Amino acid sequence: MLQSKLFLKTLKETPADADSINASYFVRACFAQKQMSGAYALLPLGFKVYKKIEKIVREEMNALGGQELLMNVLQPKELWVETGRWESAIDIFFKLTDSSKKEMLLAPTHEEQIIDIVRHHIKSYRDLPLALYQIQTKFRNEPRAKSGLLRGIEFVMKDMYSFHASEEDLNVFYEKSKQAYFNVFKRLGLDAKLVAASGGIFSKYSHEFQVLTEVGEDTIYHCDKCDFAVNKEIAEVKEGDNCPDCGGKILVSRGVEVGNIFPLKTKWSAPMNATFTDKDGKEQIFIMGCYGIGLTRSMATIVEVYYDSAKNKMVWPKEVAPFDVHLISLGENTEAEKIYDDLTKKGFDVLFDDRDTSAGEKFAEADLVGAPTRIIISKKSLEQGGVEIADVDGTKIVKISEIDL
Ligand SMILES: [Zn+2]
Repeated sequence: MLQSKLFLKTLKETPADADSINASYFVRACFAQKQMSGAYALLPLGFKVYKKIEKIVREEMNALGGQELLMNVLQPKELWVETGRWESAIDIFFKLTDSSKKEMLLAPTHEEQIIDIVRHHIKSYRDLPLALYQIQTKFRNEPRAKSGLLRGIEFVMKDMYSFHASEEDLNVFYEKSKQAYFNVFKRLGLDAKLVAASGGIFSKYSHEFQVLTEVGEDTIYHCDKCDFAVNKEIAEVKEGDNCPDCGGKILVSRGVEVGNIFPLKTKWSAPMNATFTDKDGKEQIFIMGCYGIGLTRSMATIVEVYYDSAKNKMVWPKEVAPFDVHLISLGENTEAEKIYDDLTKKGFDVLFDDRDTSAGEKFAEADLVGAPTRIIISKKSLEQGGVEIADVDGTKIVKISEIDL
């Protein structure tokens, strides 16, 4: 991509209403535009990063055995009356009526619809287990929308629902899902902690995947030695206590919940009377699990973790970076074009700054774009024998014929 053609109109100043690092960064770097509090449009660079996150999530969910589908944003009232959530969870819904006064809502989650689909099609234990997921925009009537893409009224989630003939089978899948989630977050460059949280009346625990960072809304008690970690809402330890698992010291941190997994069991399948026939010919209620990942929230969390406020500089993790390489030409476009063609042929996604602007402006914008590798070609670098390559390992001069990424 030639930077002279790229949709990139960066801002020098932090937007006045930005209340977090990601809210400021996404708008300044032209990755997103704020539509209103809690709702952002993804601009071409932001959408590029988002699509890479989506690809990682999809690959790992498919590897786990999930099958992707796409349900509806608009949902009829009747389904939500079946579980009692039309009334009980009224505050988080965007409700609306159509021209014939039929009541609907914009879905904040999809247990009702997925159960309706499965009870319609799956009648026998032979068709179980089954895991279905979607990646879709969700809506939550959130009066405290804030922190950029971290806490929105409109956001993108991956939600998976698994159906089982027994609790043992749910447990096996539930454990496998933990590993799939660790794979996702590792590829996103996020160090997520598995944190025990409330499981409601049906299960002792559910689990959250929390990235420890100051902007987080959750309070996490965790061990300084082992993997013990628990959400404040159910914590039986406090800061400075000894870890119940290993005797280490309990620390307290803020966390952003980027994912969660929940053993629902029959919580929603029972009120919706969703049943299958077991191997003895008896009717049984589906045992369920649900598994969420916030895609746009993960994207914002990556910025909170990787943006260096002191240097005004972003470096995206490799697998989600908007470009693999930022090739910056300081008045040496003829040589730079050859490198651009060569790297592009080799399959690298290269942003080539071919513009006739100052070095200072080019570097300031490169700091916002955040490609993990930068190749600078200038009169000075050519005199030193080639190009300057800068990445997380530092800076070095490399001969043009020996560029090896
Ligand atoms: Zn411990």
